[in-house]
Amino acid sequence: MHSFHYRDGSLHCEDVDLSLLASEHETPLYVYSAATIRDHFRRLSSTLSGLDHHIAYAVKANSNLSILKLLAGEGAGFDIVSGGELFRVLHAGGTADGCTFAGVGKTRAEIEYALAEGIYCFNAESEAELRFIDRVAGELGKVAPVALRVNPNVDARTHKYISTGKSDNKFGVDFDDIEGIYSRAGKELQNIKLRGLQMHIGSQLTSVQPFVEAVEKVTPLAARLKDEHDIEFFSIGGGIGIIYEDALASGSNDWWDGKSGEEKPLSLEQYAAAIVPVLKPLGLKILLEPGRMIVGNAGVLLSRVLYKKQGGAKVFAVVDAGMGDLIRPALYQGHHDITPVSQSGGKSETVDVVGPICESGDFFAQDRELPILEEGDLIALLSAGAYGFVMASNYNSRPFPAEVLIEGSKARLIRRRQDFNDLIAGEEL
Ligand SMILES: *Cc1c(COP(=O)(O)O)cnc(C)c1O
Repeated sequence: MHSFHYRDGSLHCEDVDLSLLASEHETPLYVYSAATIRDHFRRLSSTLSGLDHHIAYAVKANSNLSILKLLAGEGAGFDIVSGGELFRVLHAGGTADGCTFAGVGKTRAEIEYALAEGIYCFNAESEAELRFIDRVAGELGKVAPVALRVNPNVDARTHKYISTGKSDNKFGVDFDDIEGIYSRAGKELQNIKLRGLQMHIGSQLTSVQPFVEAVEKVTPLAARLKDEHDIEFFSIGGGIGIIYEDALASGSNDWWDGKSGEEKPLSLEQYAAAIVPVLKPLGLKILLEPGRMIVGNAGVLLSRVLYKKQGGAKVFAVVDAGMGDLIRPALYQGHHDITPVSQSGGKSETVDVVGPICESGDFFAQDRELPILEEGDLIALLSAGAYGFVMASNYNSRPFPAEVLIEGSKARLIRRRQDFNDLIAGEEL
């Protein structure tokens, strides 16, 4: 579900009118729905209730402290990819023993920090990293819980920048090398405990097939590692896709609900029905690391039209948000529906919606048919809750936008807008 809908011609998040919210907090402004986040977490958990499972929310999708706190309250663990993310989780009230630590380039400082805090598991992505973790743990007199990330060489059929499970990606260890590494590690490394096996084949998957392929391929490996090394978990990663197009019109913007009358590319029920029977007989704890699926459709970015500009060949709507606030369109051709916050019911025109940043890649839509936008109009870029604010940059010395979390009729500022002093903090003359 999502909680963005028109009421009396004005776009609301839950019970809050977004035009009033934008007047109060200015734009660009990120707005998140707590109800949507809770619903997504609970729905995923309940479809997998037949399985001994644990959901480790992928912090990198949206790492605002209030959102982490909300999810910790739901019982989520956390999949982190840096020391900074661990710091956030602990600050938000999450616990280290619910954290898995992913990523190909963990530094000594990050490993020491995670060992000191006592995380659940390091998910290592190479034998070299495994040996380094062993060495650092030995120096600290600790035993590091570890899993290896297997690269199952399965095509996730998603954008090449968010595909991670093919043998030409930098992620994970070749399927054929995994057992040799576990054997050597079991014999030679004294300061690690082999706790699990992990995989993650990519992001924004809109078909269940690649998941099934990967799970079927890797489950027998997990079974052998359980027998030989007594591992306790198998993490099947994240990657469940969401609907980015026609989200409001369909009344639902989740793949797992499908669109009325159309094909249902990936429903949660399908996902569970396909993988649970394969995974259940393993007798291992199953970890999931969803990010986008939990928060993607729970957020919008509000922006105001600064100018209308008639170019030589095109009409441009120049808005006050840019690629520094939301980089998905520029980085991986990500699509965001754009809708006026106040419904006009009038005519439409073909426009490019562009930001103020000095880059031709700074656009949110090209040649898109939209209701006619006038200067001062407020628009919402939908499905911006995942990989939105977290990828913000100060490029062009533009302060980060503010973030607001909605719960029913309550709106809470969960991150204030940066000011110019924030931009130069830490610099020296
Ligand atoms: C990014 C990432 C995820 C989350 O991916 P989503 O597509 O947001 O669900 C999960 N696991 C790992 C290891 C990741 O790097």
